[in-house]
Amino acid sequence: MTFKSFNPPERTLMGPGPSDVSPRVLSALSRPTIGHLDPLFVNMMDEVKSLLQYAFQTKNEFTIALSAPGSAGMEACFVNLVEAGDKVIVCRNGVFGDRMIQNVTRIGAEAVVVDSPWGRAVETDKVEAALIAHPDAKFLAFVHAETSTGASSDAKTLCKLAQAHDCLTIVDAVTSLGGSELRVDEWGIDAIYSGTQKCMSCVPGISPISFSPKAVEVVRNRKTQIQSWFLDQTLVMSYWSGEGKRSYHHTAPVNSLYALHEALVMLHDEGLENSWARHRAQHEKLAKGLKELGFEFIVPEEERLAQLNSVHIPDGVDDAKVREYLLENYNLEIGAGLGAFAGKAWRIGIMGYTARSENVALCLAALKDALNQ
Ligand SMILES: *Cc1c(COP(=O)(O)O)cnc(C)c1O
Repeated sequence: MTFKSFNPPERTLMGPGPSDVSPRVLSALSRPTIGHLDPLFVNMMDEVKSLLQYAFQTKNEFTIALSAPGSAGMEACFVNLVEAGDKVIVCRNGVFGDRMIQNVTRIGAEAVVVDSPWGRAVETDKVEAALIAHPDAKFLAFVHAETSTGASSDAKTLCKLAQAHDCLTIVDAVTSLGGSELRVDEWGIDAIYSGTQKCMSCVPGISPISFSPKAVEVVRNRKTQIQSWFLDQTLVMSYWSGEGKRSYHHTAPVNSLYALHEALVMLHDEGLENSWARHRAQHEKLAKGLKELGFEFIVPEEERLAQLNSVHIPDGVDDAKVREYLLENYNLEIGAGLGAFAGKAWRIGIMGYTARSENVALCLAALKDALNQ
């Protein structure tokens, strides 16, 4: 048996992630690998930290890139902050809220679940009622941008409610970072995690996270040891903090961090608010075209994410066949429905480097062709 190099085709990625990676980022990835404690690499990590503070709009000292995908960022927030017996109010309006609940219960903590309909924003009045009914709750956890449905929740209001009831917030911003308005300090978010493969134009596998000083204090004052060695952020803090003070924790994914650095430089050059506006503008073009093709959106307009558009699959149309047709004939990937929407919806992502006019035009033309076949 012989094995050859793997050469993937050039696809246009318009699903729920990964999304297209900028050529600048891909070229950064192929630069020479240097030691992860090399002074030049350490300087670059300091820049990654500053650039992440910009992307998150925070001054949080503890703002780092976790060497693992978004799911590990989620787990890192829960295992560091939450202890067995703690009460956590978790909002569920899609797949990722459900995963938060699993994180809470595996710790041996109690999840108070606030359910909102799939395809809708988290209902803030229900959250307020839960906060009133559970004055002993220590955390409020919610997903800012639910990638499974395309719904955007009102993070600002949810954080205000949590603060009024002395709860710290744990926020999933995997799909919102870089794609829609997000202000960690102004909104008072305590622990936040994201991913590099959605609206950051970067390769998958890294999770930016940030903890407020209050959250860091909670981590430092835990009564019990954090059960995960790798995700124990008290061990990682010394690795990321202070010039020349870094000691070995694990080997950083050196080249992936070059990629993230490049993606963050691009975001900084574009300007965060311009990036949010670009996603919104491309969404408006896409939504108009989809409506003309007869598609109906799942999420009401005012709760809709720009970067993830979920539409009902028209009656009589074969879900898998159309996606296969798009892939084979146009090298175009769109996303299938997830969870309750499996087989019933398509999720069209315009995230990061994908959020450009030529991709919106391609997607609309390809869909039109596929539906005619
Ligand atoms: C993609 C995603 C995750 C998980 O990120 P991975 O990089 O796939 O581990 C978590 N939450 C949301 C909202 C996501 O969209």
